[in-house]
Amino acid sequence: MANQVTLRGVPESLSAKFVGTFAYLTVRDRLPTILTKVIDTIHRNKNKFFEEHGEEGVQAEKRAISFLSKLRNELQTDKPVLALTDDGVDTDMWNQYLQRQQSLMDENESPSWFKSPWLYMECYMYRRIQESIRLNPPICDFDVFRAAKTQSYFESQQAIIAICTYLQGLNKNMNDFSEEQLMGQFLKLLQVSLWGNKCDLSISAGQENSQKSSPVEALEDLKSFILVDDSHLVWSALTGGKTPGGSGKPQGRVDIVLDNAGFELVTDLVFADFLVSSGLARQVHFHGKSMPWFVSDTTREDFSWTIRQTMAANHKWMSKSGAQWQRYVKDGTWCYHDHPFWTLPHEFCDMAADAPDLYAALQEADLVLFKGDLNYRKLTSDRDWAHTETFERALRGFQPAPLCSLRTLKANVQVGLRPDQGESLTAREPGWMTSGAYAVIQFSSHHREQ
Ligand SMILES: [Mg+2]
Repeated sequence: MANQVTLRGVPESLSAKFVGTFAYLTVRDRLPTILTKVIDTIHRNKNKFFEEHGEEGVQAEKRAISFLSKLRNELQTDKPVLALTDDGVDTDMWNQYLQRQQSLMDENESPSWFKSPWLYMECYMYRRIQESIRLNPPICDFDVFRAAKTQSYFESQQAIIAICTYLQGLNKNMNDFSEEQLMGQFLKLLQVSLWGNKCDLSISAGQENSQKSSPVEALEDLKSFILVDDSHLVWSALTGGKTPGGSGKPQGRVDIVLDNAGFELVTDLVFADFLVSSGLARQVHFHGKSMPWFVSDTTREDFSWTIRQTMAANHKWMSKSGAQWQRYVKDGTWCYHDHPFWTLPHEFCDMAADAPDLYAALQEADLVLFKGDLNYRKLTSDRDWAHTETFERALRGFQPAPLCSLRTLKANVQVGLRPDQGESLTAREPGWMTSGAYAVIQFSSHHREQ
């Protein structure tokens, strides 16, 4: 599909209706695999449900599994999207979105798995998983992905030790750094946070995907895989050209819209620690998910579990880091938010209209970092943009504050490349957009008129 332009001058959404595309393969193969794993996970917890809730727990387990088996069948036979029936705070928003999608279709057609936008359908699957749990008390608080997330944290132990040790070394010498050295460390930890995004359990359909090697040492070798590197603009946005930490202007607020728990979250916390301890930021606001999402995404429970776990580690620099993070949370230097908009299927250009409170909150930030692929897809509306389209235009007016996407590529949308850059990558390496091997640090500070 070669950049089909709709009437509104915006390319079509990526969709499984384009047979053979990555979207199609995801809906056909990867999503049913994830559903099967969720069913297995619930089944494996049968004894736990019995111990906690008795026979009622076992009945709930059975009902959830039958709900999910039906869902998998709906997906595989391309059935119409059904309205949600639970009493979530977001249920109405989802059902209104279904109406909106219906109004975009021909009269005799309905939104469905292989016809509707991929972004919508993939988000919808995770929301339906949540529905299967919510509708079935007493197991309605069960996080079907928790075990996978904690396993990914433990499997990255060596890398977590390495990065915490590195952080504590920096913090000890922070006052002796020249501005240039400070910038050098900033760029390093920004890249560590970027590559932390490789560890994603949704793209590997729940297969183990953790960080084994030392994250700082690998950076030099990875540099050539960063297709767009605006990190110097991110530095300028934070410092305004002035030395941080000095007597000058009061330092600002950085918001991090999180992606995955496990190793990636640790790299984000390390980066946030550095921002605060260097004086580059006064406050860091984290934004996570209000329900289990895309297998490994961070929830409030994952966020506090990770800090507690790091604090309790039997390693001096890890536990010191964790204790510091706990203090940052306690004294309000760090804040965690989980607005329901992050688990809606909406493109971010809808945020100002559909979640004005969240948009206003982001406007308070001096810089917003968006981690990962799903955020990138929502930033760019998950559409079939030409690779040379500007990031600003793909944002379609979404610019609550200066913002930067830190993303390893796992879906076939990528804008802001140089002429021929995409073509030569395709010729050399057809899977470059979905392998997770490449990354971008893509910045936008203002909305340019189209
Ligand atoms: Mg994720």
